[in-house]
Formats: sequence, structure tokens, C-alpha cells
Amino acid sequence: MINLIRRMETGCEPFPEELAALLSDAAPAVHTTLFEAADRVREKNCGKAVHVRAIIEFSNVCRCECVYCGLHAKNANVVRYQMTEEEILEAAWDAVEAGYQTVILQSGEDLSYSRETVGRLVASIKRMGNVAVTLSLGERPFEDYAYWREYGADRYLIKHEISDETIYNRYHPHSSFAARLACQRELSRLGYELGGGFMTGLPGQTPLILANDLLLLKKMGVAMAGIGPYICHNETALRGNPDGDVNLTLRVVAAARLLLPRANLPSTTAVNVKGGLTNALNCGANVIMQKATPYKYRNLYDIYPGRDSKDIPLKEQYEALRAQLSALGRTIYENGDA
Ligand code: SAM
Repeated sequence: MINLIRRMETGCEPFPEELAALLSDAAPAVHTTLFEAADRVREKNCGKAVHVRAIIEFSNVCRCECVYCGLHAKNANVVRYQMTEEEILEAAWDAVEAGYQTVILQSGEDLSYSRETVGRLVASIKRMGNVAVTLSLGERPFEDYAYWREYGADRYLIKHEISDETIYNRYHPHSSFAARLACQRELSRLGYELGGGFMTGLPGQTPLILANDLLLLKKMGVAMAGIGPYICHNETALRGNPDGDVNLTLRVVAAARLLLPRANLPSTTAVNVKGGLTNALNCGANVIMQKATPYKYRNLYDIYPGRDSKDIPLKEQYEALRAQLSALGRTIYENGDA
């Protein structure tokens, strides 16, 4: 395994089977070697600076039926909310003022935000300063993606979730694996920086599927990959299943760093909920996504359990992170285009 890690560090792509064996290897020495290699590759290609991004979850209304997600359309116990344009812009301004240089607008698949509304939001946020806008609104008509790109959207985050087509189609009865990948291809073609990713520990995900999840990121040419543990939600069809393992997630993030040396790899909010932030930064991650959703809505964006009870002003949240990063010998990237 140590030889495989060395080969990957020099840019060799592994076969799926050997990558699967690496991810399943329980030997602590293998983990340490993998984490150290990922940290070196991150340092060499991305430096010490961490990109800090603000995510505004502006609506929890969703037409989809993802079997793992607490916001699925049939969950009648969710108190649904939809932020107004004014509220979204106010939250974005708070984030920009606090120092965040990327605003991510995320929601369930909520078609009541029209192509034009989202275009207006993107254009208004772009006018707030040197700020990048990422959209994460799921599968929409390709004309919408093109329109938002024209209005200045820089990036689009849409994960493939799991690379096994049969499982994907079972877990997403409203859509298909082919449709998801078609969205990713179109977004790249339109010039978006493509953000992909997947969950670790979804029921049915074997080590080989996990290896293929990683290799698919490379094949799709993602610029960013959000990799986080599956966290079980009791109001979903997958209730009762165990959560994804954080240590396994860290190994997968580290392997992603070796496969995609220059990609932006966040310590995802799901990793952070599980207390893995510091560790993720030490095994390849170079991005942090922090919630900037107004507190009155934050706990209603209940994709998985993990309550956020502290009402800390965004500026304070940003400065606390700066101190935390500094203690790790890292800095916040503040040169624009974050
Ligand atoms: N609707 C958009 C989409 O489909 O891409 C964005 C919103 S969706 C709620 C954001 C992400 O939440 C998904 O890509 C999925 O990976 C993650 N997610 C949903 N349920 C989860 C769970 N139970 N555990 C971990 N992550 C989950």
C-alpha cells in the first residue's frame, strides 16, 4: 500500500481495485502515510491558504425524493421556508462584509425561484465586490444554467452522490444517474468551475464503488469536490442505517488530493458536523464551507441531523476561523477569486 501511495503522489492513476484496497486498509501506518502524502501534495499545489466560503441555504422546498435527505418532497414534518430576494441579498451582503469572498447559494430543487430571479440574485451579489458566486440548485433546464452563467455565476456544485448507476437510480427515483452526469457535462461546457462530489458510507456503497466515486471525479474534470459522510436522517427511507465513518471520509479526501492535486477540496459541512474539520485540513482539504444562512432558518435546512444553536455574528465566525487556522499554521486566502 505504501508503494501505491508513493505512485499516486507522483501522479499515477491507480486501478479501481487497488484504490479500493487502499481505502479499506485498516493499518494505522497506511493511514499516516496517506495523510502525510496528501498534506504534501496540498502544500505543493495549493499552499497554506484556505479558501473560506459562505453558504446561504435559501430554501428547503424540494421536488426531489432522494432517499437519504431529510428535505425530500414527501417529508411532511419539515417546516418549509423560502427566503425572499431581499433576505438572500441581505445574507449575502453580511457574508461579503464579514470577509467571505465566495457566496454559495444552495437550495432544494425549488422551481419557484425562476431563471430570472436567480439571474438577478447572481448579478446583485457580483456587484457587491470581488466575490465569486457558486450556485447549487440541483438539476435545472440547461437554458437556466446558460442564463445564470451570462449573469456572472462562476461555479456550480452538483455532486454525483454515488457512482453506481443502479444504486443511484434507486436512491433518486425522480431522476437518473445519466441526467445527473449530463448536468455536470453541460455546466463544464458552459465554462462553470464544476463542483462535484459524493457521500461516503451510503448503504450499499462498497469499497470498489467508493474507488469509482473518486475516479469519476477525475473523469468529469471537477475543479472542486465535496466529499462528506452520509449522516442518517430518521425521516427518510434509509432510516436506521449507520452514519458514514469520518476516518474513512478523511482517507477518501486524502486519496482525492492525490488524484486531483490542484482541485479545491472542502472540509464539507457534514465533516464539520462530525468534528473532522481540523483533521480534514491536515489530509488534503484546502477549502472550508461555513453556513451564512440566517439563524431563524438554519435549523430548518434539515438535510441531516446536526443542530446549529449558537447565534454568532458572521464577522465573529470568520475571525474565530482565522484564529483556528492560524493555530494550524494556515491562513485565509484573501486575494480575491476565492
Ligand atoms: N438540490 C441540490 C442538489 O441536489 O445538488 C443541492 C441541495 S442538496 C440538499 C445538497 C447535498 O446534501 C447533496 O449533494 C447531498 O450530498 C447532501 N446530503 C443530503 N442528505 C444528506 C445526508 N443524509 N447525509 C449527508 N449528506 C447529505
